[in-house]
Amino acid sequence: MNVRSFVAALAVLFLVAGGSAHAQSKLNVVASTEDLASIIREVGGDRVNVTALARGFQDPHFVEPKPSFILALNRAHLYVAVGRELEIGWLPPLLTSSRNARIQPGASGYLDASLNVRILEMATGQITRAMGDVHPLGNPHYWLEPGNGRLIAQAVRNRLGELAPADRAYFGQRYDDFSARLGAAEKRWDAVMAPYKGTRLVTYHRSWPNFMERFGFQVVGYVEPKPGIPPSPAHIIDLVEEMKRGGIKLIVAEPYFSPKTPQAIANRVPGATVVVLAPSVGGVKEAANYIALFDYNISLLAGTLKQITGK
Ligand SMILES: [Zn+2]
Repeated sequence: MNVRSFVAALAVLFLVAGGSAHAQSKLNVVASTEDLASIIREVGGDRVNVTALARGFQDPHFVEPKPSFILALNRAHLYVAVGRELEIGWLPPLLTSSRNARIQPGASGYLDASLNVRILEMATGQITRAMGDVHPLGNPHYWLEPGNGRLIAQAVRNRLGELAPADRAYFGQRYDDFSARLGAAEKRWDAVMAPYKGTRLVTYHRSWPNFMERFGFQVVGYVEPKPGIPPSPAHIIDLVEEMKRGGIKLIVAEPYFSPKTPQAIANRVPGATVVVLAPSVGGVKEAANYIALFDYNISLLAGTLKQITGK
């Protein structure tokens, strides 16, 4: 699509949107990730149309913009962001290009989902991107903890209710139902993970602090020396030695990093294994929604630890 026809298409959209504002029965919601989109669907039910921008198998720090994103953003009543600068590299120009005042940061149609959740690894002292650390405002992978999932759902319920007051009770019921199902699932996950509490492990990126803390695991090292910085040979040698000394036998990796380096590390540590978990809904087909994401990761993690420990 060339620029002229793109602008013409947008003009038609603006006309349609302006003409049918009162006939609008569903809220158009766009979210940065499939995790947020899944939670929004849980709460919004059939009163929302939800679009996710980043796919679950992509590194959410680096997302390739597409023209379809601009069209979805132009029609949106609400944008839900992960925040903590996770999207700093790709979202701001998209929001500007959307020509949609409703969803700009600060407007009632922009929700930063990180504002009322538990954030780990908060920077102390001066905030800096020195050496490329992509987590300058605390760890943005906070959705990987069911308690935070519930808090995100609360914020979504509240904001949807403000944007569509007639549906407030509906969103409240949907939230209560989601929260109850999540609570039942947490009991199941705790039982599966109980034998492995206290396991010490290494992860590739710092994607898992909330998840590992919640289930009683201890992350003692990272394949990346800093978030967003590729491993150096010297760092790999140090990590292998640390794993050998500490009897660490598990490396958790994300699907969007090459498996070569973690596998090479595991090959040099007796009995060590690499497991690729899904960091987001849609990362693998089994992780089709927020609760299924944990079902998948916990079952895979427990199966791997059963093999390693014999428990
Ligand atoms: Zn990250």
